[in-house]
Amino acid sequence: MDHITRQTSSSAAATGVVDVLVPVALNQAYSYRVPRGMELKPGDVVAVPLGPREVVAVVWAENANPDPRLHNRLKDVGEKLDVPALTGELRSLVDWVANYTLSARGMVLRMTLRMGENLGPERVRMGVRLIGEAPKRLTPARRRLIGVVSDGLLHGKSEAAKEAGVSAGVIDGLVDEGTLTVEPMPRPSAPPAPDPSHAQPEFSRQQRSAVDAMRALAANGSFHVALLDGVTGSGKTEVYFEAIAETIRRGRQSLILMPEIALTGQFLDRFAQRFGVPPLEWHSALTPRTRARNWAAISAGEAPVVVGARSALFMPYASLGLIVVDEEHDQAYKQDDGAHYHARDMAVVRAHLAKIPIILASATPSVETEVNARKGRYQRVVLPSRFGGAHMPHIEAIDLRREQPSRGRFISPRLTAEIKAAVERREQALLFLNRRGYAPLTLCRACGHRFACTICDAWLVDHRFRQRLVCHHCGFSMPRPHVCPNCAAEESLVAVGPGVERLQEEAASVFPGARTMVLSSDLITSIETMRSELNEIAEGRVDIIIGTQLVAKGHHFPRLNLVGVIDADLGLGNGDPRAAERTWQLLNQVIGRAGRDQGRGVGYLQTHQPEHPVMKALIACDREAFYASEIEARERTLYPPFGRLASLIISAGDRPTAEGFARKLAALAPRDERVQLLGPAEAPLAVIKGRYRFRLLLKSVRGFDLSEYLRQWLAAGPKTKGNLKLEVDVDPQSFL
Ligand code: ADP
Ligand code: ZN
Repeated sequence: MDHITRQTSSSAAATGVVDVLVPVALNQAYSYRVPRGMELKPGDVVAVPLGPREVVAVVWAENANPDPRLHNRLKDVGEKLDVPALTGELRSLVDWVANYTLSARGMVLRMTLRMGENLGPERVRMGVRLIGEAPKRLTPARRRLIGVVSDGLLHGKSEAAKEAGVSAGVIDGLVDEGTLTVEPMPRPSAPPAPDPSHAQPEFSRQQRSAVDAMRALAANGSFHVALLDGVTGSGKTEVYFEAIAETIRRGRQSLILMPEIALTGQFLDRFAQRFGVPPLEWHSALTPRTRARNWAAISAGEAPVVVGARSALFMPYASLGLIVVDEEHDQAYKQDDGAHYHARDMAVVRAHLAKIPIILASATPSVETEVNARKGRYQRVVLPSRFGGAHMPHIEAIDLRREQPSRGRFISPRLTAEIKAAVERREQALLFLNRRGYAPLTLCRACGHRFACTICDAWLVDHRFRQRLVCHHCGFSMPRPHVCPNCAAEESLVAVGPGVERLQEEAASVFPGARTMVLSSDLITSIETMRSELNEIAEGRVDIIIGTQLVAKGHHFPRLNLVGVIDADLGLGNGDPRAAERTWQLLNQVIGRAGRDQGRGVGYLQTHQPEHPVMKALIACDREAFYASEIEARERTLYPPFGRLASLIISAGDRPTAEGFARKLAALAPRDERVQLLGPAEAPLAVIKGRYRFRLLLKSVRGFDLSEYLRQWLAAGPKTKGNLKLEVDVDPQSFL
């Protein structure tokens, strides 16, 4: 488009000025003139010139008093797009999140406009149909194309060309010959709406009071936070479905957030059983066309229920009436690249701004949420036992100091015997190890050389499946050599420690005849293959599942009765303030996969520290003991939620630059007795992708406006230049 001409020709005709927020890394909105004949109000989605490009952006405010001296230098809004305006509620959310996380407002806005250039009404797709005789002499390309459309039906034009392996020109040629015709494809009709009365289950007596609470909260429709607190298998999903049914009846949209799209497969089926049709999905694995269509449906209010990963929170719902955050404790809700935000916390913010109810569901609530429920800020809705009389799994420790696996193995003798017995009973067993690949470390037996990433401070992980040594931080990989690069010894490399692939090798040799399957995020090529693998497990076509945290959550495998945790201590020893909480949650979740349908589930924890408070609470199934000790510790040390944290991560291509900047910044921190500054310290992961990293940690009292403190500090502090980078993480979850 030619903006120059438009600008000069319309400068006299412009009627007003609006401030427009563009979805790039800028905080402030820019003024544009409104051409005559265009009516704009805040929230309208527009195209505006930005440098040499034209970008989709949003009118943020009317500008009643533009500086007259600037007027002639302003550019014109290019066009108003034919999509619903962003509501005031969503614009407030963008402002709120940007302000709280210290992200550029434009970057937060970008999450609401995830369609980029695809924004706008769906383009009409063209189709091609066979209508006449084929010419006598056919090129092979024409013959293939006619073969594809020989059924006389309307085929998508680009799909037909692709299937036949021909260019669009071949189609056009046959149209000229009168053999084919091109006509618009009918629009796919909107999917049928979920039916709130399709198949309502019979609820148990215990479930009924929770169901009543869910319905009441949805019917009330105002801002209200409920913690749906129920053990694994208690029916939390069935119960919150009733809040969704009520919201559908009220004609409002519901959003269900899930920590991982890995969880959505079985979920879609369950939803369809309850409501007749699956919900609309929103996550990164959708094709661009589906994204465009779903975005349009969400903003037009044609999607009554949306299930999605954290990014679904920022969609422009036409009439959002309920948010459910499933597995609310899950750390996958924290986004750590680009804008650092916690989707659960921001979901509560959105519910507050939109004045709607929100349900946080978990068997192992985050300490923050648990404290909010204890203080009465959140309503606690309890499901105390498993549905249908199924028992909670029994948990036993296997003390690795006394019951050692034999040399080179990782499954202890007792666990081996129990798995054998389970497989003989035709039950499933799950071996859990939260480590991808074959082995976390490779070393040379001859000289002791260890294989490390050249640009990160990390060992290379042996991935036998891919036959490469891989860095889990930057993705660098190399083939596993036959000769040590350090001492040239041949065949001297040994794998140290287990990963899931190695565990599968062990399981295959110890349990010959058992069908094993490894589930690990790096082995998954597409969401479809993952869903079909999870189905195979659910249908009982696998005897021993070996998995990382991908299998820990949410899934329902009816024949699974035994869970063996290979290294229960794995998450405990890294000095992370949330290590105890995470270990408690993860191990509860994974053992909670056992015994959900019939029989008695059992979990074995292989550990070197059975007397650790987390292990003791797990073994005793003593939830209260865990929360009591963890809450007491946080209160004493003023860790969240009794105090607040923010991290600054400074990185640069060399160590002195990063450290020097961090020291300068620290020296300029405003003094305030409510804030304590820790560091700078070299980050535990000191080098990632060749960048040296230093950390500063701010700790403040509860209720203190850390965001504002940070803003003032950073405004007065030194500016990053060259390849220095400063990342701000308010409410950090990761301390690496
Ligand atoms: P949670 O989310 O608490 O782990 P789920 O909602 O997955 O529990 O329920 C566990 C299992 O029990 C599922 O198979 C679910 O379909 C079943 N279930 C729960 N409540 C009922 C009910 N009232 N009627 C029939 N099946 C139920
Ligand atoms: Zn690396």
